[in-house]
Amino acid sequence: MTSQLQLKIESSFTDVQFIDIRSQLPVNPNYTWSQLAGIRDINALNTIVCHHDALPKYKTIKYGDVELASRIATDHIRSKKNHPKGDAGFPYDLWIRNGIIYWCNDVEPREYGVAGNNGYTVNICVSGDYKNYDQLTPEDRKALYAAIISMKNYLPKDQYIKGHNQIQPTDCPGYDMDQVREGVLSLEKEIEQIKSPNKQEEIAYRMANYILYLQKLSLGKNHNGTAASPGDMKWALGQLLKLEPEFRRLGFLK
Ligand SMILES: [Zn+2]
Repeated sequence: MTSQLQLKIESSFTDVQFIDIRSQLPVNPNYTWSQLAGIRDINALNTIVCHHDALPKYKTIKYGDVELASRIATDHIRSKKNHPKGDAGFPYDLWIRNGIIYWCNDVEPREYGVAGNNGYTVNICVSGDYKNYDQLTPEDRKALYAAIISMKNYLPKDQYIKGHNQIQPTDCPGYDMDQVREGVLSLEKEIEQIKSPNKQEEIAYRMANYILYLQKLSLGKNHNGTAASPGDMKWALGQLLKLEPEFRRLGFLK
């Protein structure tokens, strides 16, 4: 089953690749994630959890990205840790490698990302072992921030951004989550600023509209075209004339 909702990369990240590999990864022949563990209400999802896959890069360098993701999925399907017939498949929603974001699972089905906490969490993973061997590369860091912001856009609720180790005792994700949260916040501000010209035009439009509304009302015409009461006309004229000092100060009136 493919999700009705489309997870898309936030449009500001023109240089980060986002590739849907949901249909390319091995799945357990016995069940999908939704058949094994059910579907979550998207409104219940309020926490984005960051992971690493704990595979040191020097050990995985020989594999292509999709090849490595497939190996991870197969390991989980073969693992008897949670079920005699194994997990359903790849355990994360988004997985990052070589600066590319891979979409690996529909977001709503429950995966086993954080034991006992899978009712409200979505999972973003960066390939590598950041506890013992690796450092986030600038490309992977940028992809991680882009993945988090894109996931925030996809989900209806405000999101907490947590490391796996902030929910359970674990070495995952091994990278500094304070830095991740600060980085995401400042990128979000940058994006807002890039998009703000439209917001300023909208404010100007609303101001002009409101002045017109007050002027028409002061002349006796309601919003819907009916005759305004004398009280409303007086109020509207008074409101409009409150702008006079500012207009004179700005040189709009002589
Ligand atoms: Zn983890």
